[in-house]
Amino acid sequence: MQFDSDSSIPDAAIVRAIQLRGEINRANRLYYVENAPEFGDAEWDARMQELLALEQAHPELKTPDSPTQRVGAPPAAGFNEVVHPVPMLSLGNVFDEDGVRAWYKRALDFLELESAPMVCELKIDGLALAITYRNGVMERAATRGDGERGEDVTANVRTIRSVPLKLDGQADDIPPVIELRGEVFLPNSRFATLNAEREKTGLPAYVNPRNSASGSLRQLDSTETAKRPLDMFFYALGYIEGTDVPSSHWDTLQVINKWGGRTNDWTRKANSVEEVMAAIANAGEVRESLDYGIDGVVIKIDSLSLQSRLGFVGRDPRWAIAYKFPAEQAETTLKAIHVNVGRTGALTPWAELEPVMVGGVTIGRATLHNKDEIARKDFREGDRVIIQRAGDVIPQVVEVTSKNIRPADSQPYQFPDACPSCGAPTVHSEDEAVTRCVNTACPAQFERLLEHFASRGAMDIEGLGERVSQVLPRLGFVSNIADIYRLHDRREDLLELDKMGETRVDNLLNAIEASRTQPLSKLLFALGISSIGSESAEWLSHRFHSLTGLKEATEEELRAIDGIGPVVASTLVDYFTVEQNHQLIDDLIELGVNPIDDTPEPSADHPANGMTFVVTGRLEAMSRSEAQNRIKALGGKATGSVTKKTNFLVAGAEAGSKLDKAQRLDVHVINESEFIKFMDDGITPTRPESDV
Ligand SMILES: [Zn+2]
Repeated sequence: MQFDSDSSIPDAAIVRAIQLRGEINRANRLYYVENAPEFGDAEWDARMQELLALEQAHPELKTPDSPTQRVGAPPAAGFNEVVHPVPMLSLGNVFDEDGVRAWYKRALDFLELESAPMVCELKIDGLALAITYRNGVMERAATRGDGERGEDVTANVRTIRSVPLKLDGQADDIPPVIELRGEVFLPNSRFATLNAEREKTGLPAYVNPRNSASGSLRQLDSTETAKRPLDMFFYALGYIEGTDVPSSHWDTLQVINKWGGRTNDWTRKANSVEEVMAAIANAGEVRESLDYGIDGVVIKIDSLSLQSRLGFVGRDPRWAIAYKFPAEQAETTLKAIHVNVGRTGALTPWAELEPVMVGGVTIGRATLHNKDEIARKDFREGDRVIIQRAGDVIPQVVEVTSKNIRPADSQPYQFPDACPSCGAPTVHSEDEAVTRCVNTACPAQFERLLEHFASRGAMDIEGLGERVSQVLPRLGFVSNIADIYRLHDRREDLLELDKMGETRVDNLLNAIEASRTQPLSKLLFALGISSIGSESAEWLSHRFHSLTGLKEATEEELRAIDGIGPVVASTLVDYFTVEQNHQLIDDLIELGVNPIDDTPEPSADHPANGMTFVVTGRLEAMSRSEAQNRIKALGGKATGSVTKKTNFLVAGAEAGSKLDKAQRLDVHVINESEFIKFMDDGITPTRPESDV
């Protein structure tokens, strides 16, 4: 690349521009062609913004091959190239209200208008596709590629169930040739499953759902794509031959929908920047309840004639802008790597970090997953790393950014060969990617089991937290679970303990006594039998009614239960063949910890069967727990948080945020008397006229 030697551009700017171009081009190639993103969106955006600013300040710096002039990279070998008859757009980005305001003002100034209606759409974190239909039949599907040229992925896209192979409607209604555009994505709920399957077969895990959607779409063998649960939302028309098009973007979406193309139902109109900001705030709130990733909101001027008047600046349309959510990634220093021993003996490495804000939360530790992940990514103490936080998920360390500037004495991390708690040699299982301490007498495992046993979702013994769970075994008070129920004989000894005191000891002993009446399902979950979660514990409880009943269950009987898989069945049988476990159950029964489950079998024909409920607020006739038990007894599900899948929100007095959320998500809200009629008489509440 050559620059005029007379140029007034500072050398530093020239050097920086070349450097940024190199980095962005490389990242694009890795992202678009190799499916192996090198760095996250936030950093990509930062580099792109910096380069754009440089080129804006010094227009002479612009080169035809600058990544600001083209988005993405050429298609990989193996797919036919497709030239888009109408280029696929990229959008300019804004990151705050001022950015939205400035964009809107520029558009209005350009049009010399006071206002122009807009449409706000969720910005789905997936891959853009253009699908051409000839006479209503799908002919070709192409990736966006660099916007001008993409890849022909027709065979793969045909496997996506939400993509119509034939458009609905009369021949006269559908133009002879029409291109539908949208975003293909992998649902979040399927991402973890897909990664687990990949790791089992020795393939590297995908970094995020978008990365996996891209990988799935670009399988050379479309039968592989068919196994991936890809999904798609449509949001625009591309090339059209013949026939009138609707006059607004909003109407376009309705038409696409009528033809059978799935559109996103969150989409809303806005008439001012204030309304746009309210929509953005709402998108931020619903973000975590969605089963797909979004990274912002796209704002478009609704009128298509205004859109065509507005046209483009470079590649970016003047009539649309993308508002990007603040990045939920951050860079920090990995201060140290620690290893925890879990209650199943799994050694879990975690990172102690220089505390850093990520998406509004200060993060000081993050998971490093397992030994293989550390080796693959070469995480070392002292590295600069990118950490990521997505919703409620435990923060994770994504990658190292300082590989090239490590001090000379930097060493790869050595995963311990021995259990950090008991010193027993560890065993590494390749297919689970887990390193374990298999010493059944490992103190760390027992301490974790004790903590789990006492936890809220299990036996709910307040006062038996992390610290006391360590102290009691270490001082010889407890050497198995049943010993907890023998502690009341040792009150005097407990009073001698450091930091315990009379009140704490008595509270602990009372909490232990109270836990005897916890339901059987909680006790089963509390025992920490591997692969028995709280849900399978409920199934087992309803079917076998008591510890004795369960202990005598055969593998065949267990397998026959709805909701219990072969893994759980064989784990349980194995559990009871171990003498100590058998003894533990007998001891618990003898100590009077022997809850009986007398829940009647759910009635399959009750209309509540299979429905999902959330109970909130104060009810008059019963407690919330009682209401939840009634729901479960009838075969319904009672969950803690309102999502789009919630069928009914039962709202008592002083219902708060859950009621607000239900109204926002348009969930059917019922009061206590409707709920009781529903439960008692099987009368499904009807919904008043919706005011949509
Ligand atoms: Zn151990």
